Amino acid sequence: MTDIIIIGAGPAGLCASIYARRAGKSALIIEKSTFGGQMTFSPKIENYPGFEEISGNELADRMLSQAMALGAEIEVATVESLRKEGKEYVVTADGKEFRSYAVIVACGAEHRRLGLPGEEELIGRGISFCAVCDGAMFAGLDVAVIGGGNSAVVEAALLAETSKSVTLVQNLSFLTAEKTAAEALLARPNVKAIYDTVVDGYIAENGNLKGLSLLNTVSGERSDLSVDGAFVAIGLAPATGVFADILPLDEHGYLLAGENTSVGMGGIFAAGDCRVKSVRQITTAVADGAAAALAACNYVDGVRRGDAEILPNETLAREDEDGRNADE
Ligand SMILES: Cc1cc2nc3c(=O)[nH]c(=O)nc-3n(C[C@H](O)[C@H](O)[C@H](O)COP(=O)(O)OP(=O)(O)OC[C@H]3O[C@@H](n4cnc5c(N)ncnc54)[C@H](O)[C@@H]3O)c2cc1C
Repeated sequence: MTDIIIIGAGPAGLCASIYARRAGKSALIIEKSTFGGQMTFSPKIENYPGFEEISGNELADRMLSQAMALGAEIEVATVESLRKEGKEYVVTADGKEFRSYAVIVACGAEHRRLGLPGEEELIGRGISFCAVCDGAMFAGLDVAVIGGGNSAVVEAALLAETSKSVTLVQNLSFLTAEKTAAEALLARPNVKAIYDTVVDGYIAENGNLKGLSLLNTVSGERSDLSVDGAFVAIGLAPATGVFADILPLDEHGYLLAGENTSVGMGGIFAAGDCRVKSVRQITTAVADGAAAALAACNYVDGVRRGDAEILPNETLAREDEDGRNADE
């Protein structure tokens, strides 16, 4: 039995564990893949106070070391369900059950997929979501980046350093990324963009990606683009699917919880990118982690005393007042 289970080891979850341990509570972090979450995709972070420049991996390592030095426990597993039994919450991950008095959901966001046939099987066999992680595998080869926003341009710029050619496939007639970055990218000799075009199929050979089937949405013309790798960069979606039946979500899947991080169900708190908010950054994730941990610690003390207080869900309260979600 743990005081607080934290789902996700991104900056929100790691910061929550630091605050929970410093407040004398036991804390178990359950993480399904990468300690550090999304920040590990970023080769250079220049807006986290205290570091003029630091790689996402180094910042993640520092947060994890701090959490572990304070005694946070760690389990590598994918959370599959969450339920309440009396005063306890039961979290199931990889078939094992973990119990606590409070739960902080800090599951963040994940890369959106195109949802085309064969996509899951081709991930790691040509399809990727992260140039920092997988770009080196495509050195000297032809790659495509699907998308035209800021993350697509960042991915394409990294790939252009080592790949033979980079083709951006954008569904609109222009790139939506920041203008200076987009212009600098397109000025590179090995980069080009195809506009008004959607990927409507993956072409595979012996289980590996070999090309993309393209549809021009203006002319209706179809074509194939031969590539060795395709980086899907069409944005992020909250990783909250597993909680859809238990916790309040907005229409985009974000957990409905305000600045106090309470979902209004007693011992459950939502921190970081997975909750409704206007700014999703490392700074705002760690701020949420601190708020959620302190609220969870209070709740655990209340359970022990027998007078646990249920913090209101601020977003729902405001929805009631305004008839809309004030955080959106
Ligand atoms: C390419 C890129 C560059 C960025 N650059 C910057 C930057 O320079 N500065 C900045 O401030 N922000 C940056 N960000 C945004 C920042 O990384 C995020 O806002 C921040 O990481 C959110 O933290 P989080 O802890 O809420 O969620 P995440 O970082 O998404 O972490 C959530 C964690 O939960 C885990 N998880 C999810 N579901 C489950 C489950 N069912 N079971 C167990 N574990 C689960 C995930 O594996 C993940 O590790 C960048 C993001 C990206 C993608």
